[in-house]
Amino acid sequence: MDCPKCKTSMEEVTCDQVLIDRCTKCQGLWFDNGGAEALSNRLIAEYIDTGDAATGEEMDEIDAINCPRCSKPMRRFFDISETQLQYEECDEHGKFFDAGEFTLWAESQYQ
Ligand SMILES: [Zn+2]
Ligand SMILES: [Zn+2]
Repeated sequence: MDCPKCKTSMEEVTCDQVLIDRCTKCQGLWFDNGGAEALSNRLIAEYIDTGDAATGEEMDEIDAINCPRCSKPMRRFFDISETQLQYEECDEHGKFFDAGEFTLWAESQYQ
């Protein structure tokens, strides 16, 4: 599977029996439906979200991406309390987070 943002191939990472795709270039993370929720734990997030948050912020400039599974445009989510947190979601397939964003998102799940 190719990264929906930078089109580089992604590597599969398995964590706690959940399969994730991580971009080998921008380190963005793709989770199939339910995967992000299953792994929304701070320690796990730090383990899999290995990219540089600065790179993730640069990637925020690419704001129109298509779902890597169905190629339909993904919806963009903003968290008003966490301006850095912007992620994309396809209702049918899953979520994409830029580097550093999954960690923020996982933390926000426990507030
Ligand atoms: Zn990428
Ligand atoms: Zn989709």
